[in-house]
Order: sequence, then C-alpha cells, then structure tokens
Amino acid sequence: MEFKPKYLIKMVLPLLVLLVSALVYLGYSDYRAIRDSAYSQAQANLNVAKKYLDQNYIAATNQLFLLSAILKGAENIPAFLDAANYVVNNQNKFLEIGLLVDSDYYGTDGFHLSGIDERVKRRPWYSDKQQSGDIFLSDLYHSNSTKKWCVALVSKLTLPGKNDVRIMIEFDAGAMSDDLSGLKTMKNGYVYAIEPKTSRVVIHPDKARLGVDSVSINPELLTQVLAGEGQGSIPSYQYDNQYKFSVYDTHNRFNWVLLSGTNNSEIAANALRIGVVGGALMTVVFIILLAGYLHTRVHQVGGQLIEAQEFDELHEQLSALLNDTMGSSRIYLFVMNTREGVLEEAYHHIRADVPADLLCRIAGCQQLGRFCRPEQDEIVRLIAPSEPCIRLPLVNSAKADDSQQAGSRLIGVLYICQPGLAYPFFAKMIANYTLSALNQLLLTQHIRSEDQMTGLKNKNSLRQHMEQKLTDGATGYFLAMIDVDDFKSVNDTYGHLLGDQVILNVASQMKRSFAPQAVLCRYGGEEFAVFMEAPDIEAALKQLNDFRASVAASRIEVHEGVSCAITVSIGFAPLRAGMELTISAADRALYQAKSQGKNQVLSAETRSTGTETAAVPA
Ligand code: GH3
Ligand code: MG
Ligand code: MG
Repeated sequence: MEFKPKYLIKMVLPLLVLLVSALVYLGYSDYRAIRDSAYSQAQANLNVAKKYLDQNYIAATNQLFLLSAILKGAENIPAFLDAANYVVNNQNKFLEIGLLVDSDYYGTDGFHLSGIDERVKRRPWYSDKQQSGDIFLSDLYHSNSTKKWCVALVSKLTLPGKNDVRIMIEFDAGAMSDDLSGLKTMKNGYVYAIEPKTSRVVIHPDKARLGVDSVSINPELLTQVLAGEGQGSIPSYQYDNQYKFSVYDTHNRFNWVLLSGTNNSEIAANALRIGVVGGALMTVVFIILLAGYLHTRVHQVGGQLIEAQEFDELHEQLSALLNDTMGSSRIYLFVMNTREGVLEEAYHHIRADVPADLLCRIAGCQQLGRFCRPEQDEIVRLIAPSEPCIRLPLVNSAKADDSQQAGSRLIGVLYICQPGLAYPFFAKMIANYTLSALNQLLLTQHIRSEDQMTGLKNKNSLRQHMEQKLTDGATGYFLAMIDVDDFKSVNDTYGHLLGDQVILNVASQMKRSFAPQAVLCRYGGEEFAVFMEAPDIEAALKQLNDFRASVAASRIEVHEGVSCAITVSIGFAPLRAGMELTISAADRALYQAKSQGKNQVLSAETRSTGTETAAVPA
C-alpha cells in the first residue's frame, strides 16, 4: 500500500490525545508516588522521634535510680547534689535536678529552701497520689527559675526517719524540640508533639509555640486519635489556610501524641510540573481544534457568499462572517468602477480614487493580510485614521497570456477595520471567497443590465446610470434617443433575419462612434439610446450627427450582390433635473425628427426655444 501524507495527518490528533492522557496518568501516578514517599518519610521521622523520646525517658529514669541509690546509701545530700550537678552539666536536656526531703528543697542550681512543705505541694511536679517506688511524669509547665518550658520526671523513695522524699529531673522541652527539628518531611514538614491531657504543644521546632494550645489538632481530632489504635494518619486537615497531612503515634514513654507531616500542596507542587506539560499540550490541541473550527466556519459561510444577489446582501454576510471569525467591527467593500476608474463603496456611499500605492503592488499581491497604515492609503485615512485596518485587494489572477495592466484585473478592495484576529492565512481565505462572490455578483449584474442580442446596456441600466449622475449633480451630460427609420418595411421586405442584422449593425456602429465612457443602450426593438458627456450642445450634436452619417453610409448585405441601406433619426436633450423629463424631451425631439423627414438629429433645446434648428438633414 502506498504511503500518503493524509494517513499521517489523520494520526496527529489521536496521537496528541494519547500523549495528553499519558501525561495526565503520569502526573497522577507521580503524585501518588510522591505522596507515598512523603508518608513514609513522615513515618520514619516519627520512629526516630519516638526512639529519641524513649531513650531520654529511660536515661532520666536511670539517673533517678542512681541518684536515689547515692542518697539511700550515704544519706549524704552534698554527695547527691554533686552527682546531680554532674548529670545536669554534662548534657543539655535536663534543666534541673531537685531533691525534696520533707520541708527542705535542694536544687542543682544551688537553690535551697527550708520549711516549704505547703508551697512545694503546689508545684506541678508534686503529686499527692504518687506512691513510693513509682515514677511520676508531670504536665508541661513553665519553670520559674529557668523561665523555660519543661516536664519533670519524679521518683518517690523511702528514707528512714523521713516522710516525703522525692527526686525530680526536669526535661527541657525546648532543647528536645531543637534536637528533633532536623527531622523534616519533604522541605517544610516537621515533627511535633502534643500533650493529650491538656492539648498543648510540648515539642515544636518553633519554640514560641511551646505551651500553646494545639491549633492543627483540635480537641475533636485529638479524641479521635486517642480513641484509635495509637497510630495512624490524618490525610487532610486545615491549618493556617493550608491543607496538611500528618502521621501520628502515641506509643512512647511520655504518652505524648507525636505527629509528623507536611502541606499537601508540597506534594501536589512536585507532581504539578508534569501537569504543566500536560496542560501545555492540551492548549496545543485546543488551538488546533479552534483553528480547524475557524477554518470550517470560514469555508461554510464563505461558500454561501457566492449566493448573494445584491451588494448590500454581500456586504452584510461578509460583515457577519468577519465579525464571527476575526472579530472585526466594520468592513468596507469597494468595487472597481472600470468605466470611470474609481472605487465605489455602495454600503457607506463612498467613492474614491484607487490608492496610488495599490496598483503597483497588485502584481505580487504582497499586501494580502497585512495591516495598512493611513499614510500609505488615502482610503484608510478616510475610513480608519486611527485604528488598525487590513487591506485586501481583490484581484483576478492573470492568465499566462494576459497582457492587461494590473489595474484592469483589480475588481475591488476589502478593508477590515479593527480585526481582533489577523492571521494572514484567514485573511487570504476570506479574500479568495470575497473575490469569487464579487466576480459572481458582477457577472449577474452584468447579465441583468445587458441586452442579450447586442451586448449593449438595457433600459434599466441606462436609468441607473442617469440616476447616479443626477444624484452626483453632474452636468454636461446628454441623452439621445435613436430610432431606425422604416424598420418595419426592412422586416417586411427582407425578412426578420435581416432585420436582426440591421439591429446588430446599428449596435456595432454605436460602439465604434462613441467614447468608451458613453452608456450605449438598446432601449427596445429598433430603438437605441446614448447617454454621453459633451462640452456643449454643439459638440453633442456633432457626435450624434457623425454617427447618423456613418449609419447612412454603411450598407448591409442582403445576399450576394444585393445590399440595402438604412438610416436613423435622433432626438436628444441635455440631462436635466428629473430623469423622466429628460427622456420625454429627447423622445419629443426624436418624434419631431421623424415628422420632419427622418435621417436627422434634432435637439430638444433648439426645438423648444424655436431658435435656429439644429436638425441636420440627410
Ligand atoms: P418609423 O420610421 O416611424 O420608426 O417606422 P418603423 O417601421 O421603424 O416603426 P414601427 O414602430 O412601426 O416598427 C418597428 C418594428 O420593428 C415593429 C417590430 O416588428 C420590429 N421589431 C422590433 N424588435 C425587433 C427585432 O428584434 N428584430 C426584428 N427583426 N424586428 C423587430
Ligand atoms: Mg420605433
Ligand atoms: Mg423605427
């Protein structure tokens, strides 16, 4: 099977859809993988934190055991304090070690108070319920002496002769927080701990948060956590306008709720990069679909333009199409009036000369789809002096043997004002459709305005031309009515075929005799009309009389060796206000020419004024 480009083109869209789906899948699975790794990182951090807490707890209980052994053995308080000072000074987690012997309190900071049995009972580390041999863990409190947040581990022992003997070790919550602050989940996640009894923060990398009620884990969530199996995860909760996740564990010697997690957005951000690539490709697909849609739409509506029967209809359809596709607010469709060499815009009633720079550029059509500046083009100066405007010359393409000037191929110019979307590609498509539609319309109009037999203009067309000149207020125009003399007898004598020949003969004589700007018309039957420009009545009379003479001088061959001659009578009148007035004046002059002997030209002016007759006899 032969490979054709169309197979490849057909595959582009499905391939793009496949690619986008793959990227969306990749983005999603990437998100899952990142999320899973974030969870396991958080879990690993939690395990480290848990071990750290447990080891500190065990270390503290060991110290309590050793210190109580020293105290029991020697009952020597200075020896106890020496050992306690040694312990406090050689690590950073213990703030203070204290010894209570009935109403005496001894601290490692050299603090000693006597007779404090009532006061001491209000200290947070003192519990009435503690039994001898038990270890008691206090709630979080703010130490008066060190001004730091701490919890205390207290052991109660029995000494002979003493009622209440307790050894207390204070843990520095801030120092422990510092140690755990390196446990990061992704970039911004951290480990923290909450004291379940009070919902206060006991461990946090931001030490300002110690002792503060937990915001992230509200009491409701905390109840759920504690009611569960002691460990698990909270997939999504809101804190500080961010959605976060946390894994938690309550199995540690301090019985704190240890938490570790990070913002969900951090996970999403990592997966987003692939999402962005997917999005960009989606945009490409969207643009392709949009371009395809616009293309189809222009073809659809463009094809309909050709059905327009009138200029106004064409203008309106084109205007709607350009508004739909290019977002243009206004268009001007100029049509070339080849007879007068000017551009005419029927919809906005504008007549203008062909812009000077246009004709020289038409040969290559380099201006297609380009913006046109006011200083270049006098029409743009008129219709869009300060807004963007595209100029599309509508030019019939030259044939190989076309020796015509570029200007004679120009049939119109389309100006598109304020186009929102101005791709040369669309502009070219639109120009092509407009050109076809305009050619079609001009052809239809041409057929409608012409006499089929002679190719001269018909009566309707003559009236339109006269009307136009009257609207323009033009002067120096004349209307002549021409009638073949005794035509009936030509028909009767030589037959209708020859009669037709006579009509064609008169038509071609007219084309030869008058200027190209003159409107030559077959008025009906063997009657003709000429609407022409002349400097004065005498000049008009001269032109008409020359024509009359040339008809009279020509001969029409009937058959070999036999020919006949014909003559015409002409009545003419200058163009005056009111078309009907002009026609009837010329008609009356013609009637008079007939009645005065035919084969002559008579002016309505001289006839009505009664002055010297302008009639030129045969
Ligand atoms: P007059 O000098 O007064 O103008 O006389 P006439 O015979 O020319 O005028 P009339 O109006 O009596 O006759 C015109 C004739 O032209 C009548 C009609 O049959 C004939 N005619 C009209 N159209 C055509 C045509 O297209 N071909 C032919 N062969 N004859 C036509
Ligand atoms: Mg007649
Ligand atoms: Mg006649």
